[in-house]
Amino acid sequence: MSSATQRETRGFQTEVKQLLRLMIHSLYSNREIFLRELISNASDACDKRRFEAVAGASGDTPADLFIQVRCDKEAKTLTVTDTGIGMTRQDVVEHLGTIAKSGTADFLSKLSGDQQKDSQLIGQFGVGFYSAFTVADRVEVFTRHAGAVATQGVHWESDGSGEFTVENAELSEVGTQVVLHLKDDALDFSDSWRLRSLIKRYSDHIGFAIKMPKQSTADDGKSEVAVTEELETINSAQALWTRSRNELKDEDYVEFYKHVSHDFAAPISWSHNKVEGKREYTTLLYLPGRAPFDLWSRDAVRGLKLYVKRVFILDDAEQFLPMYLRFVKGVVDSSDLPLNVSRELLQSDSEIEAMRAGIARKVLEMLARLAKEETDKYAVFWKEFGQVIKEGIAEDTANRERIAKLLRFASTHTEREEQDQSLDDYLARQKSGQKQIFYVIADTWNTARQSPHLERLRAKGIEVLLLTDRVDEWMMSYLGEYEGKTFQDVSRADLDLGDLLTAEEKAADEKGTEAALALCGRLREALSGRVDAVRSTQRLADSPACLVLNADEYGAQMRKLMEATGQKLPEKRPTLEINATHPLLQRLEGLADEDQFKELASLLLDQAILAEGGQLAEPAEFVKRLNRLLFAKA
Ligand code: ADP
Ligand code: MG
Repeated sequence: MSSATQRETRGFQTEVKQLLRLMIHSLYSNREIFLRELISNASDACDKRRFEAVAGASGDTPADLFIQVRCDKEAKTLTVTDTGIGMTRQDVVEHLGTIAKSGTADFLSKLSGDQQKDSQLIGQFGVGFYSAFTVADRVEVFTRHAGAVATQGVHWESDGSGEFTVENAELSEVGTQVVLHLKDDALDFSDSWRLRSLIKRYSDHIGFAIKMPKQSTADDGKSEVAVTEELETINSAQALWTRSRNELKDEDYVEFYKHVSHDFAAPISWSHNKVEGKREYTTLLYLPGRAPFDLWSRDAVRGLKLYVKRVFILDDAEQFLPMYLRFVKGVVDSSDLPLNVSRELLQSDSEIEAMRAGIARKVLEMLARLAKEETDKYAVFWKEFGQVIKEGIAEDTANRERIAKLLRFASTHTEREEQDQSLDDYLARQKSGQKQIFYVIADTWNTARQSPHLERLRAKGIEVLLLTDRVDEWMMSYLGEYEGKTFQDVSRADLDLGDLLTAEEKAADEKGTEAALALCGRLREALSGRVDAVRSTQRLADSPACLVLNADEYGAQMRKLMEATGQKLPEKRPTLEINATHPLLQRLEGLADEDQFKELASLLLDQAILAEGGQLAEPAEFVKRLNRLLFAKA
């Protein structure tokens, strides 16, 4: 040991040696992240120095805190300098010679030697400072702790193979300088443009300025680059989401949205939250103003930009959003996740699941607020993304009630095609004694609103929701109930108006059913092979007949969805319900001629199919039958 510089050589802790060996191979394809790690450390050091200066702990005066990145092609070096807290000699030996994390040995013992698997594991472990050795065959650190004098500086050096040296050095500035002597296959990291783009990409929102020597292209027309001593800041140097809400203007949020979403238009709304407690993270979540063209594409990129402590980690981290909120854009910045967190880890981590649940709640809260306070904006949102939100009824059972509150429907109450009525609106208008929320599903709003199935409800002034989105039948099968009311498809055989009918009405219905028994039997005979059953109904007012589905049968939408996925469904024969008091049925009842009866019965069935927007199996037959009838009358 030299007495002047007190030079000493020490061995790395066993775990560090192991980690170094594994890392150099397993991170090879992704080694550019070393820069992010070094800048992150520099930023941490600046954070600490700022904190200590503010807290007055080190007696240090607040310094100009920034990070500098320099490269030298000839010397084959890359240098990252910060004006942060620096390290004492003891710090250096501890931090750059051991791994402080508990469970390190245990973790390393799990590594299999399989490079691919190990690189993922190392990713979740966090490689930090040692990642410098993926691009450098020699690393030097010059550091002076805040509060130490110039002669108390420290020089650390290692080739990463097992040992390092430390010695005293005279350093004029507080802070740390990390010098990487680049490997021959890593010389691209001595290219200034490459470094700039990496800084932009990974460290743009580091809260401190990251500076590089200014480059000016010479005037002589050649693109010779001259390096000046002047520095310029490469990053934007302020993480927007880390600033407090009240110091940010709407324009700031809108500009940042455009940056993260690559959308030209402004967002509808946003929500900026800091979550504290067991997990700490900040989210800045945006609702876009319009649906992207690939909203329905399975492989569309989605998700949030993930930062850990303001350091960019991943674009499109889809693990932070449930599928039905895939249109949300923004940032999540975690204080707890390791910097090297990988996509693979995100997929299987219970912490991430908890964060996803928290983020979903924030989005739902934002939507609820919008729905309540800014109905115009909510209407825009619903038009663009309503169908996606509907998926949440099936996907997110924990929030089903909250999502149900966000649903908007067309209804017989408004007679408008706009989906702008909430379930709460419906309940506020329900009749006394009404235990169900009635709805009908059809391909179009017009078909839905003219559906024979809701004639009697209409006549009694009972509101029916008109559902026309292709996911509606599927969604309703998950919805079950809302505020204690069950949902009732009015085209189902089990429609029961219960207490909405008076005692007299019920008695009359029963009498009618009995009286029609014989007619129903005749019709069934005449239509055998085409219908499953025929019975009389009270759901009709003006129409002579309609088709109904059993409660557990797939409707037209579900059949379409399932057929689209290649499933073969058994052919179904409908149940025909008749309005026995209708003149057409009365005429049928009086017909003695069996052929004529059959002809009319067929027309009755075809009409019922057409009235609900269905397709006839033999349209030409229908036309012939109709014409025969028209000529017979003439
Ligand atoms: P982590 O950042 O997760 O703690 P690293 O391996 O990146 O792990 O760094 C190890 C430690 O070395 C840091 O915690 C810090 O104490 C010290 N260190 C590294 N770089 C610097 C720096 N530029 N300034 C001050 N301390 C540093
Ligand atoms: Mg680090």
